[in-house]
Amino acid sequence: MKTIPLLPEVAAFLGSCQGLRIADARVETDALIDVENPSTGAPLAQVAAAGAAHVEQAVSAARAALSGPWAALTPHDRGQLLWRLADAIEDRKAVFGQLDALDNGKPFAVARDVDAVWSARHFRYFAGWPSKIEGATIPVSTPGRFNYTRIEPVGVCGLITPWNYPTLMVAWKLAPALAAGNAVVLKPAEQTPLSALYLADLALEIGFPPGVLNVIPGHGPVAGAALAAHPGVDKVGFTGSTETGRRIVEASAGNLKKVSLELGGKAANIVFDDADLDRAIPGAFWALFGNNGQSCTAGARLYVQRPILDRVTEALADMALGLSVGPGMEDAAHDLGPVISAPQMDKVLGYVDGGLADGARAVAGGARRGETGYFVQPTVLAGVRDDMRIAREEIFGPVLCVLPFDDEDEVLARANDSVYGLAAGCWTRDLGRATRMAAGLRAGTIWTNCWGDTDAASPFGGMGQSGYGREMGREALGLYTQTKSIWQA
Ligand code: NAD
Repeated sequence: MKTIPLLPEVAAFLGSCQGLRIADARVETDALIDVENPSTGAPLAQVAAAGAAHVEQAVSAARAALSGPWAALTPHDRGQLLWRLADAIEDRKAVFGQLDALDNGKPFAVARDVDAVWSARHFRYFAGWPSKIEGATIPVSTPGRFNYTRIEPVGVCGLITPWNYPTLMVAWKLAPALAAGNAVVLKPAEQTPLSALYLADLALEIGFPPGVLNVIPGHGPVAGAALAAHPGVDKVGFTGSTETGRRIVEASAGNLKKVSLELGGKAANIVFDDADLDRAIPGAFWALFGNNGQSCTAGARLYVQRPILDRVTEALADMALGLSVGPGMEDAAHDLGPVISAPQMDKVLGYVDGGLADGARAVAGGARRGETGYFVQPTVLAGVRDDMRIAREEIFGPVLCVLPFDDEDEVLARANDSVYGLAAGCWTRDLGRATRMAAGLRAGTIWTNCWGDTDAASPFGGMGQSGYGREMGREALGLYTQTKSIWQA
């Protein structure tokens, strides 16, 4: 197995300590983050770690940008810049792919052809919006009055992103925020800050005015918390855990900043015995094992109707045992990489051990794989009950829980018995049942006879403790704009 050689641009990027990107400066800090390669556990790069003073500096830079050339750009020109950024990401998809494969661990080909390419698409979709953000003229009943609305940017947006899709999660927030004319302070996850820093350089290179995009890696409780609490930040867009989301809401109370949250999940995926199993089994398998189970929409609770339980469980175990797992930068096309870090690996394995102690059975995996890097064997747990911790809490790793069920009403009630509500789905040939389930399942996204599809044009977000606000599609613009009503005599 050979390691994919680093692109010269990537080698250079890793070779020097990366400062914060504030306006057009690279700001060095005393505190540093040692970024690790989870495929090996070895140090990968050093980047600056923002403290409260740097957050202050970045917020000021963003505020200044709001009244500079950025505000003077026509909607057409703002759209053109977003389009150019999309082109630049696509042109350098291999660079983004390597950076994400290195600090996240996901297979390079996936990071390049899925994460980077979809990020570019995201910017391209939102590049069309600046010229279409329209107000209204309103037929008010007061004689002699003209009333109309202006849709304005919110102002300075603090964007806080997780490590599971380092480039794509940034794109999901940044594209609508910029399309709406905001200025941004972005705090990427401390584990995966590289592609966000690279993106900041690219944005300057293609002509975004300095200060429109500031990128400040830092630790959550320091830089993230300071950003969430800062009185000069008008809006926080956050993706991460439900626990952190709660802290952000509290921190935002000082200046009552607007908040949108994409949080955790524990999606129920239901396979009825009339499903096309040739599609449902691989569909249910990848619903969880895609991105190594490190997706908020992972189909983690797999409900299988009892007559097909053994057949489905066996097939899932075979698929798990057949997966190729290895370092993100190896040239063998591995299916999965490592989990993100040693603590995350311990957490995932702790859940597996807890599940086994509670009476579940590992029909595949169940342990660490190898001793180098943070690899967890793809694990399928059978005999899982709803009351087990593994069935209730988000594991966020390659662990699929299989639970039997008997009928539709029962499984619907069990699927909805969760604090989360991000995604859910079912597999059936019965269209009436699919429609009933889609209406009855309590989740922001429902997949029927498929799983995992998202599109820049289609709203995405959670119900319950999976968060609020809808990213993507026209609804995302609502998160990054505010409406002004104007009366004129
Ligand atoms: P996390 O909440 O620990 O971290 C997410 C981000 O928040 C990081 O940038 C982190 O530095 C920052 N942060 C941490 N503490 C903070 C604080 N007190 N104040 C402000 N910012 C803080 O989550 P994670 O472990 O990086 O990511 C995994 C979690 O994210 C999972 O629970 C997963 O479900 C969720 N997630 C949700 C979605 C979605 O769209 N709903 C997408 C991806 C991940």
